[in-house]
Amino acid sequence: MRLQKTKEILTDLVAFQVLGGQGNLAIVDYLTNYLKSLEIDFQVVPNKDGDKALLHCRIGPAVDGGVILSGHTDVVPVKGQDWVTEPFVLTEKDEKWYARGSCDMKGFLACFLASVDLFKKSNLKKPIYFAFSYDEEVGCLSGYEMACAIRDFYDEKPKYAIIGEATMMQPVVGQKGICVLKTTVLGSAGHSSRIKREVSAIHVAAKLVVWLENKMNELFESGEIDDRFTPNHTSIHVGQFNGGIAPNVIADKCTFYWDVRIIPKSNLENILNDYADYCKELEAELQQRFAGARIITEEDHPPVPPLDTPEHLDVVPFIQKITGNYELGTVAYAAEAGQFALAGFESVICGPGDIAQAHRANEFIAIEQVEKCLTMMEKLAEELS
Ligand SMILES: [Zn+2]
Repeated sequence: MRLQKTKEILTDLVAFQVLGGQGNLAIVDYLTNYLKSLEIDFQVVPNKDGDKALLHCRIGPAVDGGVILSGHTDVVPVKGQDWVTEPFVLTEKDEKWYARGSCDMKGFLACFLASVDLFKKSNLKKPIYFAFSYDEEVGCLSGYEMACAIRDFYDEKPKYAIIGEATMMQPVVGQKGICVLKTTVLGSAGHSSRIKREVSAIHVAAKLVVWLENKMNELFESGEIDDRFTPNHTSIHVGQFNGGIAPNVIADKCTFYWDVRIIPKSNLENILNDYADYCKELEAELQQRFAGARIITEEDHPPVPPLDTPEHLDVVPFIQKITGNYELGTVAYAAEAGQFALAGFESVICGPGDIAQAHRANEFIAIEQVEKCLTMMEKLAEELS
């Protein structure tokens, strides 16, 4: 019965083509109508432009110690992907449900939405909260705000947050953080023969790239390693590099984008400060040759903090009990769990489906995974009753 209900809701949810960065009000409208029909009070928190909104609600009594179930409403694009089925139509085949977002992560949303009747009749002693964010797929842009909205709105204090990203229902206690930056170097144009007299933005940028790679290696060699993650170190990587107009013209501008994926024990601020110090030093040196030389670094999107939930926290035995899965994992992708932890909730990532199926053509969720998640919802209700 509940599986059928989950399928109906998921069919509705995947029909909303809300990509990361796009307005999500249509899907929020659907969700609020659904909650209204079940007589659940909810809070819509619009963004400044009024084209997106967070949504949260509580089921159960206003007492401390509740559990937040959280997921994002946006999905990644399907453009250029080779889909066999209609991406925004749920299609059942071979015990799997195919659709964009089925696995990442509307499947989890459908599971808890389909369990409202169960939560309502369970005589909960502690409450369950639903949280819906937006713009997760373009850099977890609203996760921290979502967590704070819940923390600040309710008088009571929720204790745990379960972020339902695809983990095959394995409790995940660690996630790397990520930060994306853009560095622009301004130099002086000129004939390439004058390279020792001008400032080539490309040559300077290349030096900076080497510095970043050395920094990564230095951290690794100094033992900043966490074997729970693959790879087990903080990575620093330049993925885009643009500059120059011709082989014989000194480039007066060069821009490159880079990311830092940090393990919890690394300190992002220290890395960025060291880089800034080096840039300053180099800039002063370059300005002796060309007064207009500049090295400017800005955030391409704000840092997403890592998740590092220590095993002694109560959320660990709690999630182990309601999933029946005692093996703790970590993930290399960024998620909103670190942001919920930062806002003061004991947080884990645990949801149905395999991340290997996310973000690609023919994304699906196995029905068996949905059933496991529905069982977790039952255990959750039992545990809080
Ligand atoms: Zn996701």
